[in-house]
Amino acid sequence: MEVLLDKNRIKNFIEVLLGYGRVFASWEKEIFSNRGSKTRRFVREIKDNFSDYYIPKVRTFDNFKSFVLPGRFKVAEYPSEKWIDIGEKGEKEVLLGIKACDLNSFYMIDKVFLEDSLFVDPFYKKRRESLILISSDCGDSLDSCFCNVLGFSPYPEKGFDINIVELKEFYLLEIGSKIGEEISKNLSLNQAGKKELRERDEKRRKVKDKLEKQNREFSKAFFYLESIAEQAFDSDSGWELGSACVSCGACTNVCPVCYCFTLFDRKGEKENNYKRFMVWDSCQFKGFSQMAGGLNPRFSHIDQFKNRYYHKFFRFYKKFGVYKCTGCGRCIDNCLGGIDMREVFLGALEGVKR
Ligand code: SF4
Ligand code: SF4
Repeated sequence: MEVLLDKNRIKNFIEVLLGYGRVFASWEKEIFSNRGSKTRRFVREIKDNFSDYYIPKVRTFDNFKSFVLPGRFKVAEYPSEKWIDIGEKGEKEVLLGIKACDLNSFYMIDKVFLEDSLFVDPFYKKRRESLILISSDCGDSLDSCFCNVLGFSPYPEKGFDINIVELKEFYLLEIGSKIGEEISKNLSLNQAGKKELRERDEKRRKVKDKLEKQNREFSKAFFYLESIAEQAFDSDSGWELGSACVSCGACTNVCPVCYCFTLFDRKGEKENNYKRFMVWDSCQFKGFSQMAGGLNPRFSHIDQFKNRYYHKFFRFYKKFGVYKCTGCGRCIDNCLGGIDMREVFLGALEGVKR
């Protein structure tokens, strides 16, 4: 079902969302400094002063994974006689303006933390089920975006409660779930007509065309993605760009799909009391694969670098039937070594047996 929201009623819409829980929105702001001005896009909580809110055309700098996997949180306290029940449901959190790439990242992480037949992570489940997802179409693309060469679209196709498409005169709201339907009923909105649906399709086509144009030179490498990743450890030829990696871990931190973590214990405030925390880890750190006794199966720097590609595009794909990358391009924008994943694939393609 598609309905229309007058653009001047966005305040009204956010007020309804605030009735469901805390609202965190994609936000755009012009930042001024003595070096000039820059447009920044980030995620911030909306409580008030939102009458002039608008949804940015492209994804934010921040990813949204910390809503399901915070950077650090307590998972246990011991010794303890009693079992601490973390509860079934948490306070609702509404994510507003989330783009298709970030929506897809939830679908990918769900495979590991929710859909594994051997173990469902209760912390993840609770946070994930507390989310209300109000996504939005991309109205443009950044130079680093490459969702299209991975088979994704710059607009959400599933997994949202409501998806918002900005048209000239209205916001078109696509309803994707019961809760989405309930939210829209609070606003008494009119059905969208053929004219608005045509306008939506035309907007989508333009962004897709732009993405195809900007990624054309890389598309042949993405055709052989699996073979490149599978053969990554057979040869170093073509992987020279990896030598610029300084193992900072920025790529995995900013990645909406990288979920690797480690556990560590700290002494609590009381005597004989200890707390266990879960924190993000990175396969780009040397200690990540080190085992007791000092053995490290990925000792060399280039093996650590290649592992990220191998895991995302081969091992994960073989197990779950989907790549562990949404093509958001954040790792490209934030790499200290200036490494572009698309160029790495293009280089590695040379050494691949097809
Ligand atoms: S690997 Fe890079 S492009 Fe892919 S999802 Fe992670 S940050 Fe985005
Ligand atoms: S962001 Fe770049 S330099 Fe840092 S670990 Fe990742 S690939 Fe290496």
